[in-house]
Parts: sequence; C-alpha cells; structure tokens
Amino acid sequence: HAKSLGKNTVQFFDPKFEEKIQTRYEKTQSLRNAILRKEFVFCYQPQINVENNKIVGVEALIRWNKPGEKVPLSPSHFISLAEETGLIVPIGEWGLQTVLETIRRLKRKGFPPIRVALNFSARQFWNNNFWDTLLTTLDQNREILGWLSIELTESLLMKDIRESKSRLDQLRSMNVRISIDDFGIGYSSLSYLTQLVTDEIKVPQEFVLRMRENPTDMALVKTIIQMAENLNLDLVGEGAQTPEEVAILKSLSCPVIQGFALSRPLPIDELEVFLTQYTREHPENVP
Ligand code: C2E
Ligand code: MG
Ligand code: MG
Ligand code: MG
Repeated sequence: HAKSLGKNTVQFFDPKFEEKIQTRYEKTQSLRNAILRKEFVFCYQPQINVENNKIVGVEALIRWNKPGEKVPLSPSHFISLAEETGLIVPIGEWGLQTVLETIRRLKRKGFPPIRVALNFSARQFWNNNFWDTLLTTLDQNREILGWLSIELTESLLMKDIRESKSRLDQLRSMNVRISIDDFGIGYSSLSYLTQLVTDEIKVPQEFVLRMRENPTDMALVKTIIQMAENLNLDLVGEGAQTPEEVAILKSLSCPVIQGFALSRPLPIDELEVFLTQYTREHPENVP
C-alpha cells in the first residue's frame, strides 16, 4: 500500500489506528468541555408502588446535551470514557450537587416527599478526592439526606469488602439510603454481600426485559425477589416496558416498579408536571 502512494510517502501508522486515537482524544476533550460548559442534565424516572399507587422515588439518569446532536446523548455514549479518563469524578460532583438541588426544589414546591436516587460508578466510589467531597457535601446538607438514595453495583462493592462496609456504614449513619443496582449481574459472593448493610436491591432491567421469553430470566427475577424478602430489603423492579411486565412483577410481589410502562425518564419540568398530575389522580400520595 505504502508503495503505491508514491516514493516520498512513508506511512508509519495504520491510518485507522490514528483515527481511533484522534477521536478518543477529541471525545475526551469534548467531555472535558461539557463539564465546564454545563452541558449535562438529569432526567428523572419515577418509581411507583403499583399496589397502593404511591410514588416512592425517582432515579436521576444523566443525559448530555451535546452541541450539534439532535437528541440528548444517553450514558452509554460517554460514561465508560468518563470512567476511563477519571472525568467521572467532576461529573459525579456535578451530579451530587444537582440531585441535592432537585430534592430542595421538590420540597420547596410542595410535592409529596419522594426519594431521589443517584448512580455512582466504581471509579467515583473508589476515588478518595470524590469521597472527601461527598462527605463534606453530605455534611452540609444533613437535613435533606433522608431523601437521597445512592445506587451502587455489587461488583463495585466486591473490590474491597471491608472498605465498602465502612463506607456504606458512613453513608447510612448520615441517613442516606443504599440501593444495589442490577442485583445479580455482577459476580459477587452472596455471603459477602449480606455483610454489607443496604436498604434496597433492584431487579435488573436485563432480566425483566427477557423474563417472558426466557425461563432462566424468569427464574432469576423470582430468585432476586425472594432474596429481597428473606433479607428484608426493599425492592425495585426495573425495565418494565409493558403492562404485562408490570402485572407479572406485581403478581410476584414486586410492586415497586420503574419502567417505560409507567414513565420514561423525564426532564425536571416534565417530572413536575407528571407529579402534579399523578398526585391529583392518586391523592393518597399527599401526606
Ligand atoms: P441503571 O442505573 O441501571 O439505570 C436504568 C436504565 O434503564 C436507564 O438507562 C433507564 O433509562 C433504563 N430503563 C428504565 N426503564 C426501562 C424500560 O422500561 N425499558 C428499557 N429498555 N430501559 C429502561 P440509561 O438512562 O441509559 O442509563 C444507563 C446506565 O448509565 C444506568 O443504568 C447507570 O448505570 C448509568 N448512569 C446513568 N446516570 C448516571 C450518573 O449520573 N452517574 C453514573 N456514574 N452512572 C449513570
Ligand atoms: Mg441505577
Ligand atoms: Mg439497572
Ligand atoms: Mg445498569
């Protein structure tokens, strides 16, 4: 190939490889800029108890309003790069501040008390600077921490059980709820996991999405629900896209559901419209 390009052309790299590192560099730069230019927003997806119609909480899900893109980018487009480059730490600090503001805002506007859940990834949880900022910020917001929930994965916690235990205990002593996201997806040891005190586990959407076609997924969903019952943990079923899936989860004693069947993740102003409408239709939500 190089020969055919002419005598004076020397190709050191595979151009495809060059392109790859270039885009990675550019992507990292635009992610860095996005933090400075505050291009991230949260959408909030309701979690509803379909047995008594109570709104239990919402999960904050990050979106990137990237200039030039028609629609906000979902986390699958940028979270792993943010993890690899460490940019997840400043993004996480933004997320923490934003979620605390949202809790205050919903309280101020008189909405029924609902929890707001924030996701942490491994690189955040295990970054000592992030951890220090987290504790300081939480300490400055003690009076609203009962409304904050943190979602962590098992594989993240399994990296260092003893340190995880001490960190989770610290959070719980400050009245922050701990939720294990995507329970059953990571490779964790159940006996280790039960040493960690948590409040809630979430049935992974991957299992819920496939439970009607695949008996193994159905078995996993049932097992996770049973486990939550035995360990006396709260439960959220994630990823119910259809009324049938909602009905199945309900019949399996998993009445708290988060899924497209109930609501998509909503920008804050649309969440407020949703909450207003929903509490009007279901006055049992008003304390
Ligand atoms: P996750 O924490 O397991 O969040 C649930 C995901 O399931 C969300 O995807 C949500 O939109 C999606 N989902 C909910 N209901 C349904 C449904 O009925 N059908 C289908 N097909 N999907 C449903 P999303 O928003 O794309 O987020 C993906 C992942 O990105 C999250 O998974 C979480 O691990 C991560 N993530 C989101 N926001 C943040 C954040 O602020 N910080 C960190 N570190 N990670 C985040
Ligand atoms: Mg989550
Ligand atoms: Mg999940
Ligand atoms: Mg997930």
